[in-house]
Amino acid sequence: MKVIMLGAPGAGKGTQAKRLAAEYNIPHISTGDIFRANIKGGTELGKKAKGYMDAGQLVPDELVCDLVVDRISQDDAKNGYVLDGFPRTIPQAEALDAALAAKGENVDYAVNIDVPDEAIISRMSGRRACVGCGATYHIIFNAPKVADVCDVCGSKLIIRDDDKPETVRNRLSVYHAQTQPLIDYYDAKGLVVNIDGTKDMDAVFAEILEKIGK
Ligand code: ADP
Ligand code: ADP
Ligand code: ZN
Repeated sequence: MKVIMLGAPGAGKGTQAKRLAAEYNIPHISTGDIFRANIKGGTELGKKAKGYMDAGQLVPDELVCDLVVDRISQDDAKNGYVLDGFPRTIPQAEALDAALAAKGENVDYAVNIDVPDEAIISRMSGRRACVGCGATYHIIFNAPKVADVCDVCGSKLIIRDDDKPETVRNRLSVYHAQTQPLIDYYDAKGLVVNIDGTKDMDAVFAEILEKIGK
């Protein structure tokens, strides 16, 4: 099963992608997580990506596409994967299609989590991320057991640099200009599954499972 997650920043892609990956026992591949790990590790890729991310802009396609094509060719991805945060532009979608077509494969579902912009701004201000394992929380909707401490690994929870309201507004306009066109791109292939992302996390997950036939 090869699933891609579509939706605005903060729509709940990561939350649902993790659950889907566990349900199907396939890897959750998040390009945002890969970039953040590279920034933390001080790699060349991390240095190149950081300025774009902090400004709420997309990292250039040429820094993203090869990385993903390489990642989905690894052994643990042979039964499928959940791609979270990629593709985010039409050229990225075309690069993914070309890489899959070369192996006689294709994407099975594009899960589009729909949340209006107004709900996104308030949702993002409550997001907290673990510095240790990358787990994501929300101070109201998915609070950790102990404030600012990760339930999974005990590390500290932080507000992501790019979750400040001004940056979130930039990310939303980038989303509408560059990523939203992917809904039509995948719709033309009959792959889009539309999900109401305003419901609570369990209800959103149930709707996804129901619609992708589990
Ligand atoms: P969110 O899930 O909140 O939208 P991500 O963790 O997916 O955030 O991405 C954070 C940032 O990483 C993006 O704003 C962008 O700068 C960069 N990024 C992640 N994935 C991609 C991608 N496929 N193409 C370009 N930039 C990306
Ligand atoms: P994305 O990967 O699309 O940027 P996340 O999965 O990180 O989104 O979710 C953004 C924030 O909203 C997180 O703090 C998360 O805990 C919270 N969240 C996710 N899904 C829901 C939901 N259905 N209702 C309320 N809050 C949610
Ligand atoms: Zn953790």
